[in-house]
Amino acid sequence: MAKLDEKGIIEFTEEDIETAWNNSPELVNKEAQEFRMCFICKFHMKRKEFNNLELGKFGWIPEPINIKNFSFESANFVAIHPGCSEFRPKDDCTKILNKVKKMLWAFDESIYENEK
Ligand SMILES: [Zn+2]
Repeated sequence: MAKLDEKGIIEFTEEDIETAWNNSPELVNKEAQEFRMCFICKFHMKRKEFNNLELGKFGWIPEPINIKNFSFESANFVAIHPGCSEFRPKDDCTKILNKVKKMLWAFDESIYENEK
């Protein structure tokens, strides 16, 4: 379970980070351990670029799913791009996230080529 440090920054455990990753939508044509999709902008995230704000166009951070009824439980976190936090559609993204996860998403190779 995550907790707040004395500066008011959320500290995550290994389990929180793992759960946040696993809560994000999978891509049908990529390994779920390596690539997932940001449910906000629908672009992919790379597992290896965790917390990478500088190179992290496809990096990721754990974001609370529900800030309306906030909980520090691991299950309340989902991986998203660092820059997408401000675009979260609602305070409670539970339903939106579930809807996105029910659809099939594929990794777009052409976009990846352009980013190299
Ligand atoms: Zn995103």
